[in-house]
Amino acid sequence: MTNFLRKKRGHKCGERLLPGDDLFPLLEKAQDFGIILTQVQQYQFRLYLDELWQWNKKTNITGISTREGVVVELFLESIIPVGFFPEGAHVLDLGTGGGFPGLPAKICRPDLEVVLVESKRKKVNFLRHIIRLLALKGIIVVHGRLEENSDQIVPSGYQVVTARALASLEKTVELGAPYLSPDGLLVGFQGHHVDRAIGRCNRTMAQHGLVLHGKIPYTLPGTERRRHIVLFKRKGPGRRRKER
Ligand code: SAH
Repeated sequence: MTNFLRKKRGHKCGERLLPGDDLFPLLEKAQDFGIILTQVQQYQFRLYLDELWQWNKKTNITGISTREGVVVELFLESIIPVGFFPEGAHVLDLGTGGGFPGLPAKICRPDLEVVLVESKRKKVNFLRHIIRLLALKGIIVVHGRLEENSDQIVPSGYQVVTARALASLEKTVELGAPYLSPDGLLVGFQGHHVDRAIGRCNRTMAQHGLVLHGKIPYTLPGTERRRHIVLFKRKGPGRRRKER
């Protein structure tokens, strides 16, 4: 039994989540997307929520200011696309901030190999703390700006590249496409005006050999606006990156 299973902050692994518990909407809604969280995964989300909540009081890890908001807008939204990720996929999460969507994806799918990229030191410290606390293996944090071409990030090396709230959809395509392996999936998060945003990507998609693979519409509990996850697939070889 790993260390994180020891009792922390009054919770212990194996407690059943009941309606009224702030993690309950995650457990319940995840099922709509075919995700059944085990008790260990529920406990990992509990620790992640409590730590994020504590850290966020001292330093700005996320702009979401309620626990319900963290559970629904960050945890739940992050795991909606994971059913599309191939088994054992290498995943690159660009501008992960407090870990979204890469860290919740890893909790749900321990088979994934995840690289989180973040430029702000305090967020990197937080992410490394969470990875240790939750005893996650097969996930690393790269500190720095994506454009700095860290040798820890491999061009064309990932079956999945994700980016949430980093930039416009078009910019996300431009930033993320060079890291996709052939047939790799680029996962973007978009609000209501999804078709307009996709329309703006046409030129950049063509330049990088991407095609639109699908749109997942959803509404988060407690919100009314329809949101979409947009999936692009790399078909062509794409543009060669400049040698350094
Ligand atoms: N994906 C997270 C955070 C979004 S905010 C979420 O959905 O909540 C965007 C984050 O990307 C910030 O934490 C910022 O520090 C980081 N960031 C912005 N530009 C970056 C770049 N060029 N390389 C790496 N990280 C970047």
